[in-house]
Amino acid sequence: MSIPASKKILIVEDERDILQLVKLYLEKEGFRTLSASTGTEGLRQVKQEKPDLVILDLMLPEIDGLEVCKRLRSAPETAMLPIIMLTAKAEESDSIIGLELGADDYVTKPFSPKTLVARIKALFRRLERKPDESPSQYRYGNLVMDLARHEVTVKKVEVPLTAKEFGLLEHLLRNPGRVLTRDVLLNTVWGYDYYGTTRTVDVHIRRLKQKLPSLNEAIVSVKSLGYKLKEE
Ligand code: CA
Repeated sequence: MSIPASKKILIVEDERDILQLVKLYLEKEGFRTLSASTGTEGLRQVKQEKPDLVILDLMLPEIDGLEVCKRLRSAPETAMLPIIMLTAKAEESDSIIGLELGADDYVTKPFSPKTLVARIKALFRRLERKPDESPSQYRYGNLVMDLARHEVTVKKVEVPLTAKEFGLLEHLLRNPGRVLTRDVLLNTVWGYDYYGTTRTVDVHIRRLKQKLPSLNEAIVSVKSLGYKLKEE
């Protein structure tokens, strides 16, 4: 599958040489690029230019990459924006935090631009596959969610869920491995005109886990952000 040339990628990196190298390679691959050398500038460009993907260096002046990532994930309009983090070897524990905070992937410096391009393409493929499938079923371990029947079974035994619990679970199953913030879940499942607090989400997640013990370990809470269903 070829990647449409129109994809716009924002590179947030304060090391000029790396920025130029990445920019050069991405443009050679047919991507359009934008660049920023601080976290603040990166956030501004995301808002103004609406890139399709962000390459985010971890160590940045002003606001660091983790904070940028956290802010992007917290805002509903950028909650699902694909992010690849650039980290140095010594910062590896931070890159794990980065993944927890919702980066989709990370590449450790020094890296070959070829590797980075391959990761970008893989990420776009992973994200673009989803809409065409429009599944009528989701499977996770021995759990099956049948959307047409509005039914969830574990080992073929039906587990009765309320409409909200069903909605929450559907959203988690549709986005495995991605951090879903409480605001995003609230807006998706309860709707924008719902006046409840984000604690509502916590309460429902807790009930969902009680009804589905097999997901107890799989649904993880992400520090001050929201929830994630681990990839199988
Ligand atoms: Ca840096």
